[in-house]
Amino acid sequence: MSSLIHLSSISRSYPSGEGELKVLDDIDLRIGQGEFVAIIGASGSGKSTLMNILGCLDRPSSGSYLLDGREVAERGSADLARLRREFFGFVFQRYHLLAEMTALGNVEVPAIYRGLNATSRRDKAAALLGRLGMGGRLDHRPGQLSGGQQQRVSIARALVNDARVILADEPTGALDSRSGEEVLTILEELNAEGRTVILVTHDPNVAALARRVIEIADGRIVSDSATSVDAPGISVPRTEAAGAAPGIGRMAEAFRMAVLAMRAHKLRSFLTMLGIIIGIASVVSVVALGEGSRQQVLENISSLGTNTLQIYPGQSFGDTRSGRVTTLVLEDGTQLARQSYVASVSPSVSSAQTLRYGATEATAQISGVSEQYFDVAGITLTQGHAFDASDVAAMTQDVVIDENTRKNLFPDGNPLGQVFMAGKVPLRVIGVAAIQQRGPGGSTSLTIYAPYSTVQARYLGSTSVSSLTLRVADDVEMSIAQQSVTDFLTQRHGSKDFFIINNDEIRSTITSTTRTMTILIAAIAVISLLVGGIGVMNIMLVSVTERIGEIGLRMAVGARRSDIRAQFLIEAVLVCLIGGTAGVTAALGFGFAFEHFGSSFQPIYSPFSIAAAMASSCGIGLIFGYLPAANASRLHPVAALAA
Ligand code: ADP
Ligand code: MG
Repeated sequence: MSSLIHLSSISRSYPSGEGELKVLDDIDLRIGQGEFVAIIGASGSGKSTLMNILGCLDRPSSGSYLLDGREVAERGSADLARLRREFFGFVFQRYHLLAEMTALGNVEVPAIYRGLNATSRRDKAAALLGRLGMGGRLDHRPGQLSGGQQQRVSIARALVNDARVILADEPTGALDSRSGEEVLTILEELNAEGRTVILVTHDPNVAALARRVIEIADGRIVSDSATSVDAPGISVPRTEAAGAAPGIGRMAEAFRMAVLAMRAHKLRSFLTMLGIIIGIASVVSVVALGEGSRQQVLENISSLGTNTLQIYPGQSFGDTRSGRVTTLVLEDGTQLARQSYVASVSPSVSSAQTLRYGATEATAQISGVSEQYFDVAGITLTQGHAFDASDVAAMTQDVVIDENTRKNLFPDGNPLGQVFMAGKVPLRVIGVAAIQQRGPGGSTSLTIYAPYSTVQARYLGSTSVSSLTLRVADDVEMSIAQQSVTDFLTQRHGSKDFFIINNDEIRSTITSTTRTMTILIAAIAVISLLVGGIGVMNIMLVSVTERIGEIGLRMAVGARRSDIRAQFLIEAVLVCLIGGTAGVTAALGFGFAFEHFGSSFQPIYSPFSIAAAMASSCGIGLIFGYLPAANASRLHPVAALAA
């Protein structure tokens, strides 16, 4: 019958300088179920190395290791992790408890990796702690416990997965003699239950408790007090919980650990997030501002209609002479209106005048327009009605005043039907228009809409106009109409002393300009996000280095590499997601402030851009968290525990 543990010609060597350092040399050893074995030897003789191989934390360089009849020397890391969960409970000299967790939490850790559900592992951990005299200390953290108490917590942790073999490497080495004796008594009790106990010590008194003492010197067994006998072992159900639930449980644990780790380093986590916060806040704000300004400009343009052309005297906007160019005249409009490709023409003229009504005086812009202007420009009347074609033909003095003018001249009474003076001309109010422009200054200036014929005859005395707004016939293409208008007017004037603005062109120019700007600024914001991501990676790498001991412990109690990777990846993603949420909140707050400080336009936040921001912060966490998480998962358990 084979023993529980059967080593044949096991060697372990480490590369050292040119050659190799042989730490274990040709070890043959059988340990049976239920034995109590003490391994003694001088410091550096290879005791811990042997224990690590026995506990499947390390692999031998050569030789064969049969555990319960199965060869494990050549297994991969996932198999070794499973064997550690199934067979072994480790008790370390320095306890290796997780400082942020309570006694109960520490004992639960191996059961999480085994896939036990939350209630049963809690009950089991509490029962074990109670049995070891720690029932009153379940919620104490390691820092609040004495050495002997901490070691009892670590023994409870070794038992929570029903380990058949307890591996204790100098378990009393850091304890006073009384606590040490208590720990040894516990180990004896566990052995009496049928568990195999393998104890490393350099204290002969401790070794004397064992029924079998093996002495090691320079990596070889130099004496063995007894031959292996297999006692009838304890039978423990050895099935691992399978299915999705344990996976979710491990994820939940990884999540909880990430929160604990962030809580333990609040300032550092916040500073790490700051890069993400700034990056996300600026991306979301820039996109929202770009969209807001684009929408506003488009709104203003579409109020002019889609199939209209504006004709101005001069060469282009900013032509200083265009104010004095008087070649664009009313007759041009009349002639153009007769062309087949033109639906209608509305001339615009304007003149600044002083208004007088009773004792009130104010300055206003008299805008001479056609009856169609209100439709074309999308002006809505709040009271009364607009003038019509016959008013324009008859040059009546009936006008529409805007809301600002009404407030100025007729603060209390009904303005309709009232007559006021504009310059030397009396005008009668027939309608009130809502304020149209929202631009700076636009909201305070006074505007009066009068028939253009009236403005020309009464104020300007000439037939030149400041612009013609031309509506193209429905079935004619804009570009063709524009070319025809250009040809027609050039012929009439003898030269091209005017310029035409096409609303579609303005719209597409503005759209592409704002899009280019948005992309440019967003690119800068994305760079800041990348910098933020690198910050996250940097801190996560530091965090992995700081927590090497914790990683080693988790591996020793059976965590898979994937568990370790998930834990750090979740931490990175969590940092980024919290940062992303804060960034979006900051951007929304910025938009709120922007609105309240009376800006002419409002940022527009699309759900899509917010979703994209959250997705990209999650992505940053995954991408920049991957390297640190992979580094953590690739650590060697023994090296990590030793750190
Ligand atoms: P013990 O536990 O008996 O005091 P160890 O098993 O820890 O001894 O170590 C045995 C020898 O192996 C020591 O000489 C030590 O320096 C060497 N050793 C242990 N781990 C490593 C390693 N990772 N790399 C190189 N040498 C090591
Ligand atoms: Mg040692």
